[in-house]
Amino acid sequence: MIKECIAQTGNQETRMSNYTQTFEADTGKILNIVINSLYSDRDIFLRELLSNASDAIQKRKFLGQTDPAVLNNEIDNIEIVINKKKKIIEITDTGIGLSDAELAETLGTIAKSGTSAFLQELDGEESSKDAAKTLIGQFGVGFYSAFMVADKVEVVSRKAGTSKSSIWESDGQSGFAINNSEDDQAVGTKIVLHLKKDAKEFATSDKIKSLIKKYSDHISVPINIKETDGEIEQVNSATALWTKPTSKISDEDYKEFYNSTFGTFDEPFATLHNKSEGTLEFTNLLFIPKTAPFDLFDPERKTKINLYINRVFISNDLEGVIPTWLRFIKGILDTTSLDLNVSREMVQNNPVLKKISKSLTKRVLSELKKRLKKDEVAYDAFWEQFGKVLKEGLYEDIENKDKIAEIIRVRSFKEDKLITLQSYIDAMIDGQDKIYVLTADTLEQAQSSPHLEGFKAQGIDVLLMTDPIDAFWTSQMKSFQEKDFLSISREKYDISKLGEVKDEDGEDKETTDEIYSPIIKECLGDLVEDVKASKNLIDSPVRLVAGEGGLDFNLERILKAQNPEFEGSKKVLEINLTHELIKKLPALSSETQKSMSRVLFEQARILDGEMPSNSLQFSKDLITLGLKVV
Ligand code: ADP
Repeated sequence: MIKECIAQTGNQETRMSNYTQTFEADTGKILNIVINSLYSDRDIFLRELLSNASDAIQKRKFLGQTDPAVLNNEIDNIEIVINKKKKIIEITDTGIGLSDAELAETLGTIAKSGTSAFLQELDGEESSKDAAKTLIGQFGVGFYSAFMVADKVEVVSRKAGTSKSSIWESDGQSGFAINNSEDDQAVGTKIVLHLKKDAKEFATSDKIKSLIKKYSDHISVPINIKETDGEIEQVNSATALWTKPTSKISDEDYKEFYNSTFGTFDEPFATLHNKSEGTLEFTNLLFIPKTAPFDLFDPERKTKINLYINRVFISNDLEGVIPTWLRFIKGILDTTSLDLNVSREMVQNNPVLKKISKSLTKRVLSELKKRLKKDEVAYDAFWEQFGKVLKEGLYEDIENKDKIAEIIRVRSFKEDKLITLQSYIDAMIDGQDKIYVLTADTLEQAQSSPHLEGFKAQGIDVLLMTDPIDAFWTSQMKSFQEKDFLSISREKYDISKLGEVKDEDGEDKETTDEIYSPIIKECLGDLVEDVKASKNLIDSPVRLVAGEGGLDFNLERILKAQNPEFEGSKKVLEINLTHELIKKLPALSSETQKSMSRVLFEQARILDGEMPSNSLQFSKDLITLGLKVV
């Protein structure tokens, strides 16, 4: 409906008037969540509106670099007028303003993708309030927080470079109306809040001042406040927080800034505020969050650093400021080493930005390393949220992969907890020169895998890896500190000579089995490449390992993903000669031998997280064997 309306209005001169629209279902729902979930925190409406006002002023300044027609001749500021009697607050900015079509588009719909899906999940859930509270700031719905305190909101706005203003108005329930405004706003936008009865506390300058001091002191344009007929007074210090010396900033200041600028509710896990001088001049104020945002795995993988060139805001999603595997980091980069009026693309590809980006990446990595050393428990909580994203860097960022490998957490089978790759290497047994890994879909599946038995018996640790990305990065990285990764379910190895424990009889089981393996091989035929006695099984009867001509497991994984019919290369079935089932095999009838061999083969597949190769035959075999015991 909005689209039609914009199409009809076409250019700037044809304007919407007496246009009304009911909210779409999604918008109504979001409004409800905002109004109800954030109720205990309704103070934040002011910081949201002031942050929008400040953004609008920054936008005007930025566009003015290339289009002087949009520049403002007055001094940029935000003015708050409070009418105590009428319970009205007006917030006026000298920003870029909104055309009538933009009013309809940005204040009438929920634009961000993913919002609707997220809502479906929240709907009806007990925990929905908390979830909404943590995430709401990231949806671009800050404006709607006005309805927590107001039962009617008017937005009078004039788009920079045009001559007329429009007025958007809504009760936050049914929908909104847009009309030509009588009150021709000189520049920018005025938000008029008609306060609800129970929100009249906000109609005093003391309350508003205290909120500005608390949440919006860092806003870099003056915020002036005035009660009707009173004096104008500047409330904020109007210096961007990151330009202040670190000694003058408290942890609380950083937290407020992080929350108000990035719409977050958590405390940062780490804050990095540094100034670099010399060939590269820049200030960074980066926050490593504690809680993952809802769009962490969005395919666009957008980074979240606000880039300023010499205090002028340029962009909050420019590529190349920080690598995508650090996209969860929020923050500010302000530099004088880039030219202000180069285009976005030129900034993006500028070698200076690349150098700054490298330096930021180094800082983040060294901070994470420090954190890990200081407090493993806290680090593991962070890892739980962002580990999967950091691991992308292991194969995407050749330059930093070794440093990233130092701060990743891996699950030790022996220790039953998260450890570092370094501690794995430090605990290697005599003669061990490989990092043994077992990939599986779940931790439970990994822990009960027959592949681990030989390792357990010999006291060799294995890293259990359950993220889909794990098989990929280990095969891409190949090694850590010159120790190769080896996948114990897919590759060949011989651990019999490692450590203290040796075969009791010293014999090579593989060559001495001339009885059992041939029987099973005969029964399984083409299903396997070979059947061999195992040196690595203790409790389980069998396991499957890669065959001689086995494909590279990564390649096999890709082929399987592309073609569900692809069966993969044939495996070798290893058998445990000390297991009762195997020992009894020769005495069984040839039919039972066949059923038993196939069941052993299929259950080995199942333990590896695969489907049985032939489900029908598998269930028939189970019944055949079942009938023998009843
Ligand atoms: P966000 O700011 O996170 O995008 P909001 O709901 O707070 O989400 O605002 C939605 C959009 O409305 C903004 O992105 C901006 O385009 C527009 N907007 C809000 N307030 C103003 C303002 N004071 N001046 C100009 N545009 C504004």
